Amino acid sequence: MNKNRVVVWFRNDLRVHDNASLFSAVTKYEEVIPVYCFDERQFTTTRLDLPKTGPHRARFLWESINNLKEKLRGLGSNLLVLIGKPEELVVDIAIKYEASAIFFSEEVTEEEKKVEEALEHHAWSKGIKTEAFWQSTLFHLQDLPFPVNQTPEVFTQFRKECEKFSRIQKVFATPKQINSPSFQEEESVEIDLKMLGLKEPEISPNGVLRFEGGESAALGRLQTYFWEQDLLKVYKETRNGLLGADYSSKFSPWLTLGCISPKYIYWEVLRYEKERKKNQSTYWLIFELIWRDYFRFICKKHGNKVFQLKGLKNVAEKWNRNESMFWKWAEGQTGIPFVDANMRELNQTGFMSNRGRQNVASFLVNDLGIDWRWGASYFESVLIDYDVCSNWGNWMYVAGVGNDPRENRYFNILKQAQNYDKKGDYIRHWIPELADIKGFDIHQPHTLSPSVLRSCNVSLGGNYPHPIVKMKAFSY
Ligand SMILES: Cc1cc2nc3c(=O)[nH]c(=O)nc-3n(C[C@H](O)[C@H](O)[C@H](O)COP(=O)(O)OP(=O)(O)OC[C@H]3O[C@@H](n4cnc5c(N)ncnc54)[C@H](O)[C@@H]3O)c2cc1C
Repeated sequence: MNKNRVVVWFRNDLRVHDNASLFSAVTKYEEVIPVYCFDERQFTTTRLDLPKTGPHRARFLWESINNLKEKLRGLGSNLLVLIGKPEELVVDIAIKYEASAIFFSEEVTEEEKKVEEALEHHAWSKGIKTEAFWQSTLFHLQDLPFPVNQTPEVFTQFRKECEKFSRIQKVFATPKQINSPSFQEEESVEIDLKMLGLKEPEISPNGVLRFEGGESAALGRLQTYFWEQDLLKVYKETRNGLLGADYSSKFSPWLTLGCISPKYIYWEVLRYEKERKKNQSTYWLIFELIWRDYFRFICKKHGNKVFQLKGLKNVAEKWNRNESMFWKWAEGQTGIPFVDANMRELNQTGFMSNRGRQNVASFLVNDLGIDWRWGASYFESVLIDYDVCSNWGNWMYVAGVGNDPRENRYFNILKQAQNYDKKGDYIRHWIPELADIKGFDIHQPHTLSPSVLRSCNVSLGGNYPHPIVKMKAFSY
């Protein structure tokens, strides 16, 4: 065994900047073997017969890994890419290359934890040390002002305590050089989407951004959003938008895979505040990142409860499992344009705005009464920014089974449309068959007379569906 050699197992930390496990490996060991393993279990299907990782998400992941490989090559190293079970293959690599330790980032939810525990067990049985690093959040687990099992249930209390009694650590330096033994190329599978059982997705040119996976694109997005286009200073006013790249940061897909570190974003916000402007908007981006932390710590505290129908509140709600209605929702065929436009955007691009997510989730659980976990599973398959904690946490919130002190999170779709898409441009963008309907009427085609519909080339029940439900409070 080579005491000076360590394996760094990359997971949702696909970057070389501010990477605790990579930094420690380079600092403590002479030689580092960077490894990524596509976990085959993440490419199976779920109970709704959906791919657990759909093509949009897989494409983004695959690009991120290729970019990591390039980055590591630029530092004199490489990335060994495997496909199978990490708890077996990563340890096999450590054995083969006689590494004495495996470093990796710690996760919080059951599936990921099981893999990590199995890997530790296997490694220890072979005399290989393991070390897990916490690095997915803004506030470090050890810097929380309370034990994690006492994380406040209410977001505001969590945020205030963290802001008052915690601190955000500095970023780890990017290694200047990484020494690695040479890998035999045949061991590194050139993975493509076909090997993962997926087709290359068609990406709509109408999306808010051509999201490209990887650290380079992530850092580029921050550079554009903060520094070149100076958009951070108006974030709080624009963040509820629906169309285009500018209304919000769009950092989420890169944050999810760790292509960008939340701490790095934080310190860039502080630099922006010093060099450009400090206002409510600059603070609000940090505020949103604290939401992300909150869901992660809540998941760590509550474990599997976050995936259970009754949620954290143990609510014995009656949900239905009407598959036909569910698929109409999923495919953007409900006859409610604001819901359909958002779902079509999601299906064609893998992304949806926060405003859209709240509305379509509320529609599924409140108007259709469908099991909220079906919605969460659908998002899991399709969202390129799918994050286990943020997704299941937000869905629980909307479904009223999370720890939200507010009883009712019902979104009146028409009222929301009135507030956020008054002229109907968002609908025109995603539902071209309705595009000739003028102004706000596009949000309620079923209220128009047959002659108006005819003049706009709309046939309800023909090229656009009738509403599948009579909306609660279908007025504003
Ligand atoms: C039903 C539902 C499901 C969701 N699923 C996910 C998910 O799987 N992954 C995910 O990253 N976000 C999820 N969100 C949260 C939010 O919608 C996205 O983070 C946001 O739309 C991403 O766009 P952005 O990066 O431009 O966000 P910005 O508005 O620019 O916010 C900056 C960052 O703050 C974080 N953030 C913002 N809002 C939230 C929030 N409500 N919860 C947690 N973090 C937040 C994100 O990391 C985001 O990138 C979900 C929200 C809902 C209502």
